Amino acid sequence: MLGNMMQQPLLISSIIRQAATLAPNAQIVSRRIEGDIHRYTFADCYQRSCRLAHALRELGIESGDRIGTLAWNGYRHVELYYAISGIGAIVHTVNPRLFAQQIEYIVNHAEDNVLFVDLTFVPLLNELAGKLPSVKLIVLLCDEDHAPAQTNFNFVCYESLLEDRSEAFDWPEFDENNAACLCYTSGTTGNPKGVLYSHRSTVIHALASCTPNALNLSRNSVVLPVVPMYHVSAWGLPYSGLIAGCKLVLPGAQLDGASLFELIEKENVNLALGVPTVWLTLLEYLDKIGRKLPSEIIVAVGGAAAPLALAEALREKHGVYLMPLWGMTETSPLATFGGRTPEMEQMTIEQRNRIQTSAGRAIYGIELEIFDDDDNPLPHDGRESGQLRVRGSWVMQRYFRADDDATINGWFDTGDVATLDSEGYLRIVDRKKDVVKSGGEWISSIALENAALSHDSVREACVIGVPHKKWDERPLLLVVLVENHALDKKSITAHLAERVAKWWLPDDIVAVDELPHTATGKLHKVPLREKYRGHYQ
Ligand code: AMP
Repeated sequence: MLGNMMQQPLLISSIIRQAATLAPNAQIVSRRIEGDIHRYTFADCYQRSCRLAHALRELGIESGDRIGTLAWNGYRHVELYYAISGIGAIVHTVNPRLFAQQIEYIVNHAEDNVLFVDLTFVPLLNELAGKLPSVKLIVLLCDEDHAPAQTNFNFVCYESLLEDRSEAFDWPEFDENNAACLCYTSGTTGNPKGVLYSHRSTVIHALASCTPNALNLSRNSVVLPVVPMYHVSAWGLPYSGLIAGCKLVLPGAQLDGASLFELIEKENVNLALGVPTVWLTLLEYLDKIGRKLPSEIIVAVGGAAAPLALAEALREKHGVYLMPLWGMTETSPLATFGGRTPEMEQMTIEQRNRIQTSAGRAIYGIELEIFDDDDNPLPHDGRESGQLRVRGSWVMQRYFRADDDATINGWFDTGDVATLDSEGYLRIVDRKKDVVKSGGEWISSIALENAALSHDSVREACVIGVPHKKWDERPLLLVVLVENHALDKKSITAHLAERVAKWWLPDDIVAVDELPHTATGKLHKVPLREKYRGHYQ
């Protein structure tokens, strides 16, 4: 027997529609690329999203079309999130920190129709001009006064697109399982892969993120997502923040310590979210100027393990709680949270440190399990480690345009190696996927190795991630040289610089006589990671 309740679909347009009536005066504060602070309300955001929706319709955008964004965290990007998905199209957030060729691959693979681009990325677009056949229109996120005088491509200005449009829009109703957002990840092997979120998964993820054991969002929250809107929707905060009626503080392109501290202080931020590197940089700045964070702020850390030194510095110098999080692009991304619990009050510092440097624990809606190599589940004893798998309503089933299901017996294999303890705390101890994560962004070891191999002097190349105090990990390139060649680090680095993004360049290159291999002939990186663990200390 079926239940008798309404079948109201969970659509992203319902979030902004209701936010405009439930919390019309809640603010979105943005540091603009133009340099000033912009401030408006949810009601204003709704009206401009309606205007944008009309503009998109007039451009002929249809349901299922992909619309790319190359943009920082700011109010116009929020409007794009709502208007694009709201009319049934798909907002494709492109990571502008990738190398131009990767962006070319991603935009072409997604077949984006229109690109909305912050002024910062005009040089990148100049480089890509003529290489993106599916893109019919480029919209620069500015008004006519700020438009660049010369570009290699035609464009229209965002503010002109919005002019003279109605501030009301009749949002269409459709199946909640329709696609809403697309985000590519390089956190796997091979080419970047797209994760295609549905309206349903996005809304459920946002609702779950608001709950008290997750981010505990409410009208009292003032939230600073430093995590970018181009990387897994800034952990869903443009959605959850509007559901909860939070004040949202969007930092734009200025992520240095001084700029972030100014926003935290002036806007009374009480929840700030980002990768460890951001907070290490901020604390370094505060040490230098002899200032403290407001003690009521919670600093949520994810994307990489929270370093013990960060948890300690936040607690001891600033009286601030570090909340660990774990998730991935494929999990929308938030899956686990390490919020304060009543038991913590009775704990020793060591016990607290252990929780704060864990990856938190799952909330309702997410299940975690660890498996051995024969697919047997392992005990949750905090000691035995295995392949971490996850399932839930906001976890991916298959990659965009891939035929194969990406799950194993109904579980998504994360590529992380982890332990789980009896209370459900997760600890990531290693990674099966062959990538380096630096400052929260992926560096492909394989792409670097291939680039190195095309250098005359390199016979074999191996890239490993080595722990780094500031960036969490940095790449180290190990090379076996062609006979009678000497190691010329400068020449190899220059060669790589023509092929990969600057921030991907290995911090060091070491020549070795030989590299270890597995029985199947693959590079065996485990002993190398162990051997070079202290290389960047
Ligand atoms: P992304 O898809 O870029 O969000 O990256 C997800 C990956 O980042 C995970 O699979 C982990 O390898 C890593 N990661 C995220 N959060 C944590 C954490 N709290 N501790 C350790 N690794 C993490």
